Amino acid sequence: MPDPRSSHALVFTDLDGTLLDKETYSWDKAAPALSACRDARVPVVMVSSKTRAEMVVLARDLGLSLYPFVAENGGAVFFPERGPLPVPPDARPAGDGWHAWELGAPYPDLVAALREIRDALSLSVEGFSDLSPVQIARRTGLSEEEAALAARREYDEPFFAEEGQARRLAQAAEKKGLFVTLGGRAHHLHGNTDKGRAVARLAALFRRANPGVVSMGLGDGPNDVSMLREVRVPVWLGPKDLAPDIPRLVLPPPAGPEGWNLAVSSFLRQTVARSFG
Ligand SMILES: [Mg+2]
Repeated sequence: MPDPRSSHALVFTDLDGTLLDKETYSWDKAAPALSACRDARVPVVMVSSKTRAEMVVLARDLGLSLYPFVAENGGAVFFPERGPLPVPPDARPAGDGWHAWELGAPYPDLVAALREIRDALSLSVEGFSDLSPVQIARRTGLSEEEAALAARREYDEPFFAEEGQARRLAQAAEKKGLFVTLGGRAHHLHGNTDKGRAVARLAALFRRANPGVVSMGLGDGPNDVSMLREVRVPVWLGPKDLAPDIPRLVLPPPAGPEGWNLAVSSFLRQTVARSFG
């Protein structure tokens, strides 16, 4: 019999700076609410710019391997074979017990486009595909091992460039139907995808299985805004002065995993109360 408490809540969450501490990558401060979600069988769906290879490791460490996750800023949604949510028939087998909705442009096309535009405009741009894991580690602060996982791109090419050059690359990319998202350390070249589109599609799938479900979304950066627009309870854990203008936006006083813990605990109290009330 399905757990009645699970019927009303669904959590979509960004990772870095949201569920994971910006500096230490620790989720200790969010652990109480994370385990409360597990006890109540509330799905926690990770929605990140990270690769599938990075997220499979995190799913295992965070105890979220039974739920789908969104990789590479909405480039794909990966479904575990053994999760409580049936794998949708339009997801394709993606190896190692995962199935995928591929929403983004194929990686080889992105790499080819990046190189073509760089050469045509004589830009000083370096993509992940130009760098070894050691070089990526040096530039991102990741360990060498983490950098190797981060380099296993499928739908998004991060690149390093000065902002003016990245903007010129963005203009040329749009003529090819590709898009650039400007970032802090690295910028990203990708297809016509974002977190919001992937989350909207996934939320619709959860609603079909369970029409009463109420979704919460948590994020801290510009690439999270499209996701926050698609959920009933949007939560901003980034700098308060950068909070997006979204109706009903929740701004917990602490940022990062501590705010995650507060917001998700209160969401569970409300949705659990409602499903029993
Ligand atoms: Mg973030």
